[in-house]
Amino acid sequence: MRFTKHYSKKQTDQSQPIPGSGQVRNKAGGYIWSLDPWKLLDRFLILGTEGGTYYVGEQKITREQAENAVGLIKSDGKKVVERVVEVSKSGRAPKNDPALFVLALASALGDTETRQEALGALSAVCRTGTHLFQFVSEAEQLRGWGRGMRKAIANWYTSADADDLTYQSLKYQQRGGWSHRDLLRLAHPKPPTEEHRILFKWIVDGELTGPNAKIEAFEQLKRLAAEGAGDSEPYVKLIRENRFTRECVPTELLTDPDVWDALLDEMPMTAMVRNLANMTRCGLLAPGSAATNQVIGRLRNETLLRRARVHPLTLLLAQATYAGGRGFRGSNEWVPVPEIVDALDGAFRLAFSAVEPTERRYLLGVDVSGSMSSATVAGSPLSACEAATAMAIVTMGTEKACTPMAFADGLRPLPLSGKMRLIDGLAHTRNVNFGGTDCALPMIHAQKHKLDVDVFVVYTDSETWYGKIHPAQALAEYRQSRGIGAKLIVVGMCANRFTIADPNDAGMIDVVGFDTSVPQAMREFVLI
Ligand code: CA
Repeated sequence: MRFTKHYSKKQTDQSQPIPGSGQVRNKAGGYIWSLDPWKLLDRFLILGTEGGTYYVGEQKITREQAENAVGLIKSDGKKVVERVVEVSKSGRAPKNDPALFVLALASALGDTETRQEALGALSAVCRTGTHLFQFVSEAEQLRGWGRGMRKAIANWYTSADADDLTYQSLKYQQRGGWSHRDLLRLAHPKPPTEEHRILFKWIVDGELTGPNAKIEAFEQLKRLAAEGAGDSEPYVKLIRENRFTRECVPTELLTDPDVWDALLDEMPMTAMVRNLANMTRCGLLAPGSAATNQVIGRLRNETLLRRARVHPLTLLLAQATYAGGRGFRGSNEWVPVPEIVDALDGAFRLAFSAVEPTERRYLLGVDVSGSMSSATVAGSPLSACEAATAMAIVTMGTEKACTPMAFADGLRPLPLSGKMRLIDGLAHTRNVNFGGTDCALPMIHAQKHKLDVDVFVVYTDSETWYGKIHPAQALAEYRQSRGIGAKLIVVGMCANRFTIADPNDAGMIDVVGFDTSVPQAMREFVLI
C-alpha cells in the first residue's frame, strides 16, 4: 500500500484536514481555514447576519459575530471603532445596522478609552435620527445610561446645525421605541442657540415658542391635508419652498403625481431609488415623461451616485423589485418603465465597478449549491448566489477575458455576459441548486481543459465538503501543470468564519461580497 494515499499534503479529501495546515471543520463537515478575526468583523459589518445561513440560525451566527467583535474590542478597541467608522462613513455596507451594533458593543464593553472613542464616534456613525435610535436601542441592552452616554447623545443634538436638526426631527420621527422626544428628555442638552432652544421645546412639548419656518410649514401642510384642499397647488408650494421629503408629507397626499413631482426635485438619491414604484404607480413616471428623464439623468450621473453613496445592493434590489411590477411585500402593482430598469442597471455598475480593467484572464466560479440559494445578503430578499451572479456580471463588464461557471458537486457554464441586464443574469442562478459543494471544481476544470487562467474568483460560503482534493491543493496543482502563477480570490458571501483561501499563500485573498471596495481591492491584488 501507498501510505500517502491517506496522508498527503498535495491531495487530501475535503472531509480531512490538509496535514499541518491548521484547518478547521466547517458546518458541512469539510475542512477549511478559519478566517482572521478582523476579516470576520468585516464580513459582519458588510453582510450582517439577518436570516442566518443555511447551516446556522440567525441567533447563533449573531452571537458568534458578537463574540468575535467583543474579543477584538478587548484586544484593540480603538482599531475596532476606527474600522466601524471607516466602513460606515464610506458607505461600503448595504446597511448601517451592524456598524451601529458594534459601536454599541464598544461603548459598553471596551476599556475606558475605547468606550470614550466609541461615544466620540457617535455623530460620525449615526448620521440620521434613525441611526441614533437604532444605536440607543442596542446600547441600552448592553450598558446603563451613564454620564458618558447622556453627554454623547446631548452632543449629537448640540453639534448639529439647527436647520439640519429640524429636518431630522421632521423626517425620522421614531424607531425601535425611541423618539427625539425621549432622547432629549434623557440627555437634557443645553441649547447652543436660540434656534436650538425653540426646536428642542417643540420636539419635547409640541409647542412652537418662536420662529421656525419649516415647522410652521409642516404644521400647515398637515392642516391642509386634513381639511382636504381641492387641488395640489398649495401642497406643492409648501413642499417646494421648504424642500420637504416624503416623510414630512401626510400619507393621504402620496397618491398625487404633482406632490411626488414636487418631492422629486430635492429627493435624496437613495430615496428616489426606493420610491420608483410609488412614482410610477401614481403616474408621474411614464415612458418619455419629464420626470422619467429627470430620474434617468440622475441615475446616469456618477458624481451624484458617489456623493450620495448609493449602495449597489440598493440599486440591484430596486431593479429586481421595480422590473417585477409588484412589491416583495404587499400586492401593489405598477407597469415598470423599461428605460428606468436599464438606468438602474447602469447605476449599479457605476456604483460598484468603475475600475480600470486588469487585462488578465479570469475564471469566475459561482457556488450554486443549496446553501447559497437559501442564505440571503444583508437581510435582503436576494440569495447569496444571486448576489454573487450580479458581482460576476460586474467583473465581466470590466474585464474582456472572463469565463463564468456555476458549480456545486458538478460544474457547468453560466450563460452570462457583461452587457446583460442584471436581473436577467440572476435568473440563471435562481432555484438551480444541486446537492453537495466542491469549491475545487473551477481549478480542476481549468486544469483538465487546459484553460489559461490568471485569476480564479470563487463566490462561496466556503461550506465545501464534497471533493477528493482541497481547493488550495487543486490551485497548486493547476499552477504547476499549466506553469501559470494563478491567484485565487475568495468572495465570502456569508458572515461565517470560514474560508477556502490558504492564509499562508500570498496568491490567495478573501474579500467580502457586496463590499463596494471589492472591485478596487481585487484589482490591486491581481496587479501585485
Ligand atoms: Ca453549499
